[in-house]
Order: sequence, then C-alpha cells, then structure tokens
Amino acid sequence: MATREEQLKSIEGYGHLQTHPDPAKWDDWKELDAKAWPRKKYHRYELIPTVCFNCEAACGLLAYIDKDTGEIRKLEGHPLHPGSRGRNCAKGPATINQVTNPERILYPLKRVGERGDGKWERTTWDEALNDIAARIRKSLLAGKQDEVVYHVGRPGEDEYTERVLKCWGIDGLSSHTNVCSAGGRAGYAFWMGYDRPSPDYANSRFILMMSAHLESGHYFNPNAQRIIEAQQKGTKIAVIDTRLSNTASKADYWLSPWPGTETSLLLAIANEIIQTDRYNREFLHDWVNWKEFMQDREYLASLQDRGFLAKVPKGQGFDNFISTLKQIYKEYTPEWAEEESGVSAEMIRQIADEIVRAGTAFASNVWRNAAAGHLGGWMITRSLHFLNVLMGAIGEPGSTLPNSWVKFVPARHSAPAPLRVWNENHWPREYPLSFFEMSFCLPHILKKRNKRLEVYFTRVMNPVWTFPDGFNWIEMFKEPDRVGCHVTLSPVWSETSQFSDYVLPMGLAPERHDLHSYETQASQWIGFRQPVLRVSKERHGEKIRDTRDANPGEVWEENEFWIELSWRIDPDGSMGIRKYFESPYRPGEKITVLEYYQWIFENAVPGLPEAAAAEGLTPLAYMQKYGAFEVTKDVYGLNRKPVDIDILQKATIVPEGEHGENVATHEAGVWVDQAPHTANHVPVAGPFKNSSGKVRAGIVVNDRAVKGFPTPSGKLEFFSTTLRDWGWPEYAIPIYPRNEVERKRMPHIVSQVHFKTIDFAHNEYILLPTFRLPMLIHTRTNGAKWLHEIAHANPIWVHPVDAERLQVKTGDEVKISTEIGSIVDKVWVTEGIRPGVIACSHHLGRWRLHEATGSDRWSSSLVTIRQVTKGKWQMKQIHGPAPFKSADKDSERIWWSDGGVHQNAIFPVQPDPISGMNCWHQRVHIEKVRTGTHYGEIEIDTKKAYEVFERWLQLTRPAPGPGGLYRPIWMLRVLKPHPDAYVVPEGSSGMIDSTPIEKRTAKRATSPSS
Ligand code: SF4
Repeated sequence: MATREEQLKSIEGYGHLQTHPDPAKWDDWKELDAKAWPRKKYHRYELIPTVCFNCEAACGLLAYIDKDTGEIRKLEGHPLHPGSRGRNCAKGPATINQVTNPERILYPLKRVGERGDGKWERTTWDEALNDIAARIRKSLLAGKQDEVVYHVGRPGEDEYTERVLKCWGIDGLSSHTNVCSAGGRAGYAFWMGYDRPSPDYANSRFILMMSAHLESGHYFNPNAQRIIEAQQKGTKIAVIDTRLSNTASKADYWLSPWPGTETSLLLAIANEIIQTDRYNREFLHDWVNWKEFMQDREYLASLQDRGFLAKVPKGQGFDNFISTLKQIYKEYTPEWAEEESGVSAEMIRQIADEIVRAGTAFASNVWRNAAAGHLGGWMITRSLHFLNVLMGAIGEPGSTLPNSWVKFVPARHSAPAPLRVWNENHWPREYPLSFFEMSFCLPHILKKRNKRLEVYFTRVMNPVWTFPDGFNWIEMFKEPDRVGCHVTLSPVWSETSQFSDYVLPMGLAPERHDLHSYETQASQWIGFRQPVLRVSKERHGEKIRDTRDANPGEVWEENEFWIELSWRIDPDGSMGIRKYFESPYRPGEKITVLEYYQWIFENAVPGLPEAAAAEGLTPLAYMQKYGAFEVTKDVYGLNRKPVDIDILQKATIVPEGEHGENVATHEAGVWVDQAPHTANHVPVAGPFKNSSGKVRAGIVVNDRAVKGFPTPSGKLEFFSTTLRDWGWPEYAIPIYPRNEVERKRMPHIVSQVHFKTIDFAHNEYILLPTFRLPMLIHTRTNGAKWLHEIAHANPIWVHPVDAERLQVKTGDEVKISTEIGSIVDKVWVTEGIRPGVIACSHHLGRWRLHEATGSDRWSSSLVTIRQVTKGKWQMKQIHGPAPFKSADKDSERIWWSDGGVHQNAIFPVQPDPISGMNCWHQRVHIEKVRTGTHYGEIEIDTKKAYEVFERWLQLTRPAPGPGGLYRPIWMLRVLKPHPDAYVVPEGSSGMIDSTPIEKRTAKRATSPSS
C-alpha cells in the first residue's frame, strides 16, 4: 500500500519493536535509546489474546494495545494457542485493517427509503431492539414460530446463538452449509455418523487431498502448517483437483480428472486394494457393518439384478463378504477409470500403492472441491473415505479422525428443552437427508409454500452475493409482505445489507466474546475470543457497562445483544424465555456476558479450574490471560475405548448373535436407560434406541463392550441402511455407473456437467466456480485493504488449447452464459486447468449500488441494476475500485480499478436431492466479446431460475420416511428437535406430489433408530 519512500520512512520512524527484559526498566531504556537514536519512536504494548474471525479455523491472535494511546496497533499470531501455535495466514494480521477500516459501520442504521434505495438514518440501539423484540414477541405469541429466522454463515462460536433460538422455542436457524460442505458432510456421515473429518496430517505417512488446504481450503493455516511439517518429514502428498491449486503445485502427485468423475478413480483405487488383498482385514472384520450387508439377501439380489454381482453368495461369513466386494468392484479397473476420469491408470496404481504403504497412517480429506460441485458429490466423499476404511485409517495416529473427537463444547448454565416444532421452510420434507438447512433455496421455498417471514436476521451471511441466484433474493427482499423486517448484524456493508431495514454494527475479532473449538489436530482445545480493549480497560479499573463502552462508535457484540433482545421479547418472564438469560450468580437478574463465560470456565471445562488455580487465577482470568486451553491431547481410537464400568454394570448387553441377527435388527449393543453423561456437548449423531426404548451406550466387538461409532449399526457403514430405508437403495453402498446405460439408471450420482454431455464443438464448457483465494473469504474480509491490494480480480482460467480454439488471449473479454443469464469477464490463459474446463474464483466481483453505502470501496465496483421486464435484470459497472478520501490515507492510493465480476448471480440453484448440497459446477457457453468493452455486465432471468429450482425438485424422493418422519432421528441436526416434532403431520403436503416412500424402497425400516 505504502510507497517505497513511505515504507522506509515508517521503518525509520517507528523502529523495530524492541522490548527490555525487565519491564520496570522500560522507561530508562527508552530514555537511553532516545538519546542514542533521537528519531526513533517506541511503543509500549499491552498484549491481550483473542481469536481470529476471518475463517472458522479460529487461530489465536495477540492484540498489541498501545499503552500510550489505548489503541490496537496490530494483531499477530498467539504462540500459546494449541491449534495455530503462533502462526496465521494473511487474513489474521489483516484484522487490523478491518478494525481501522474507514468504511466500517459504527452506528445502528435504519432504512428510510425503499429497500435498496441506499437511504439510511442513524437510529438508537433502544429503538432497534424495541421494534425487533416486539415483532418477534408478536410472532411467537401468535404461534408463528416459523416467521423468525437467524441466518448465519460460519458462526464463529459454538452453541451460543443456537441456544438463544432454542430458548425462544423456534426452529429458526438457517446456515450456509448447503452451499459449502453438505456434499462432504453427507458422504462422511453415511459412513461414520460424524459429518466432518479431521485428518491427523502431522503424523500421516501419505496424504490424499481433494481440498486445497495449503492455500485456500478447509482449516487453512492450522492444517497447512501440519501438512508442511509432515512433508518435511518425508510424507508424500497427492491432490485430486481439476485445477492446479497452490496445494497441488506443492504436491508429489497432481491428479486432474474430468470434473464430477472423481468417484470413478477413487473406486478404482479401492478396487486395486481389494483385488490384491492389501486391505486391513482385521479392521474391516471388526469395524464395518458387513454382517448387515450379507444378511440382506434381498439387497444382494438387487445388486445381482443390476449386474454388480454374478451371483448372490450362499454363505454370509466375512470371506463371503470379501469375495462379494471383489465381484462388485471388479470392473472398476484403473484402465476403466482412466477412460472415465482422464487420470492415467498408472497414476491410479501409484496412488493405491502409496495408500497401502501408509497403512493406518493414511490421511485424506474432502470438504468442498468436487463434493460441492456435482450431483452425487456426496458419493465422491463416500468413495474417498472408503479408502480410509479399507486401510483401517480412521481414528488412528496419522489417519483421518472424526471431528467430534477433537472438538470440545462445554455445557452452559441452563439448557432449554428440545424444540417441539419443525420448520419446513428450512427442512422441507423433499430433502430428508440433507446436511443441513436448504438455505440457498429460501426465496423459492417461501414462494412455493406461500410463506412469509416477520423477522429475518442475516449474520456473516450475504446471500445476494454469496449464494447462487442472488437476484431471486433481491426480489424477495423487495417484497415487504414476504419479509417483514430484515436485520443485518454486521461490521461491514454487503450486497445483502443494502436490502435491509436495520444494519446493526457488530464487533470484529478483537471486539466480541465467543467460545470456539475446532478440529485442527488430534487434541481438543477451546479458544476464547474477547473484546481486547474491554479487557484492558477493566484490568485498569475502568467500569464497563457493556462491550459498547470499549468498542469504536456504538459497535456491540452479538452475545450481549441477544441477552438484551431476549429480555425485551419476554420482559416479565411469562413466555418462559427470560429465565434462560438470568444470572446463575444473581438469581432473577439479567446475566452479563462475563458471568456467562465465568460459569462455563468454572464448571464445564475439565482441567481448567485446576490450571487456573496453579497460577493463582480464577478460570475466567486464566482464559482472559491465555485466550485458549487444551482440554485433551492425543485423542485416538475412541471407537475402541471400553464402555465405562459403571455404565456396564447397569447395562443390558446384546452381542451381535452368531449370524449377526441382532445387528440386522439393530438390537445388538450395550443398552442403558439413559444416555451416559458427557462433559463434551459437541453435537453427535443419535440417540440410537432399541425396540424397548433403551439407549445405546456402546457395541460389542470381539466380546468386548466398546464405544463404537454413532451410526445405526454402531460400526462404519459400508452398507447404509438409512439410504436403503429412506428411498435411495441403489446408492446404499459406494458405487458409480460403469457405462452409458448405468448413467441413465443412476442419474442422481452423475454430474450435471459430465464431460460426455458437453457440446465442446459449440463452445460449451464446464465452469468450476468454487475455488477460493487464500487471502479472501467472502464478505468477512471486506475492508481488509492489504488483502484487496493482493487480490482484486477473478478472471476466467482458460487452458492455452482452448484459448486458441476460442481465439482469445489473456485480458480479452468473454461472455459466459448459463441457462439463466450471462456475465462478461476477462480471460487468464494458464496451463493450470484441464482443457475443456474453465474456472473462476468466487471471492471477487463485489458491488454496491451507492457511492457511500453498500459493499465497501476497497474492493467493490459501483453498479446499476435495472429490471428490464419482470424477472429480467441487468447489471452494469459504472466504475471499479477507485481512490477515495477517508481518515485512512491509503484509500487515496488505491491503484487497482478492477474489482472482478459477480459470477454467482448467473447460477441457478441446483440442490442435490440426497445431501441437499448446491451442485455448483456449471455448463456454460463461451463467446469472445468482439466489440467495445462490456466488462462486468450481467444479465439474469429470475423466472428461468425458478424453473430450474422446480426441475431439480423433481429429482427428490420426499419424506415421510419410515415411521412417518421428516428425517431419520439419528442423523445430525444442529438445532435438534424433540422426536415428536419429527412426525410429519397427517394430511399435510409438501412442495411436490410424491409416491409414499414405502412404495419406493427396496426394504422397510426394521428399527426405531432408522
Ligand atoms: S487460517 Fe487465517 S483466517 Fe483462518 S482463523 Fe487462521 S489466521 Fe484467521
């Protein structure tokens, strides 16, 4: 940002940040030093830890607070944080940009014109709280619980706001997972119940990644540093990614398949391992639900009918299972996969060899990437995890661990009862197995169900820009009858906040409280985000009323906001809400945010009170000082851990039965009257109940009562009885169509952009729109000037072969069209992408409708949007980022004028009928722009977008499922309701007419846990 001269000047002026070993002598030192170097200025800092909020990895940060001015001068890595260990990615230190961003919102604002007019007036927190509380109170008292919604992206905290919604008694949480990780989650959950992987990279012997961890994927920095450590010790890395990511460029193997064919190459690797008997026989025998599979003769017969089995084996033993596996997968040869995926058979064999060499220390991961791109993306995840299962590389050192093992969520001072409502706006019956809320379809669902919202909160959520089909969101916001009051809780402007009624300023990473725990390595830790200036002021004896007293302007923190709002919704406690927001220390009085955490640290984190006492601190003071605490280390093999003896003494133990008969009925297990107590409240799948209503506390493996996995069988599910029983029997095992005929028979797992359906001769291409840039993260990094100086444009990646065919070169404009619209972007010719495929980052193309409000000016373009005819929209850029005057002189030095193009606007929603994941990859047509410049122009047809939603809806197989339920009770849900709420009301209808599930499934549910 600064010129060379300015940089030199600043180095001269501020000097390096020396510290005297004895702080008491600091002033002497400063004086001496000032004599020696009269031009040098020194800063005395107070260091206070907090947690980064620029992605969910929750790395530790240390805020440097200038003792003279009381300002935060910089934020750097916190060496005592167990996950990040003092290291950050570029986004961590750039938090200081966000703090000092002259574009940030400092006061509560209220809309005065129409939504989107850009006219705002300053309001008070009181006015906003009273209005919002009155609306929510009215809806709740009228029994309209489904009219209040909190829509959050990555929440940056565990449990806090979910608890608020539970206290209000609403099923009103909506998230972003279905535009992000539903394809990853579903594939893992069908195997092991846990929906997230946590690879133990540092100890692995071979790493196979389908996410770009080293630059931009999931758990960026804490994972990246451990991957590099492993590589330095000799671990080899393979990356499957059609695009040459920075991660792929550092890998030992780069596999660039045709997008959406990844399952074929993964199953070919599996087949290599199976046919050569190089799997972990003991692990498969003990930990896979093969008995259930071999017992389902009807299912085996269906595999025979479909040509996957020559004949159903007579025996049902383990060797029969192995020979059945060999039959099922025998045609998935490396040569076949080469033809299907474009990855050479030789490479496939090499990867299989590497995996076998690594054995149980084989780590793999997919989170977004292909799993987020395609119809059936969840099957890609399932096939990848199959490789771990074959090697027994689950939960062992160097393998892939379930996330919940390495995440700790403590209990709270009071727990509201489970919800008694089911909200079909977020959990429509058409998607009973989705992970999770069908949030990106909300405008369509509200329209189709003729529903409205009274209060809609958006937080770390910018659907107009981040979601596909953003113009349908604009249309929704423009209908006041559809959305009564839209409240944006945000530190910065966004495309969505432009269409709000209130924009309420929320704190950044060093301006709020949150408690986090994430799966970064094989240990459990908690990180404490805190408003550092408040901590400093309170330490120095200042009386703080709430966090607003320490934050800039009237910036608040969400946690205090929710306490205050809840009291105003239920001022006299008659609605039963207020009691959950009362102090555990001062009965009947409003809880303070510090009391909330004080109770947790004193009562619910094992080992923390002792660690604090050892330093003569209270647990709260300890967390304020250190900002993180490691609860447990080396969390391996929890599935193998014996069930506690005191539980066993009261349990009914049912072994699998000689022929596994108790397994197939889900009666095998260690059964108790009540679920055992656990200090860790991390959400896990379950509960699993037997036919007598007892809860499973473990399973029996080799005559030992052990904890097992949270799946219906208690084991890893090669054969998913859930998929079988809920209408998708053909996909109950890892599978992929072997030929054209099977592609037609298995349309739900064939990518919508399968290369054999692309008309290359007429300039049709596959667009990969899902990759990240390492220094940006959607709306959160708005206002971080350093980051936007590094990256500000998102050109289309085109392979030289295609560039020649299209007669384009780097910098040329091209028009990219989908079935609902078009954008004009520039070309970047690169060999980093497979011929026939193009790619574009989804991080840029920010826009604002008004010069001073809307998305911020470091990165966004000023645009006009116009509705040409009903449903037909046009966007034109007036200008890109440009210098502007502000309190930060750097704003006058903006040298870039290209802010990129908003590509997501032209994507229709494409929900996977099983996982609910938006299938992001697009079939596009490209043409060169031959006259003039049209950069950034966008055309959209929202009516066509709605038609696409309707078309994809027809792919679903709706609930009610077994037991007349909306969803299998055992499957994860963040706000999990009471089992009664799972029952689909009789006579109610969904969005489409459907055949009852009983008429479609190959086999009925046999257990109440299904
Ligand atoms: S990886 Fe980067 S953005 Fe994410 S929490 Fe760590 S420092 Fe922040």
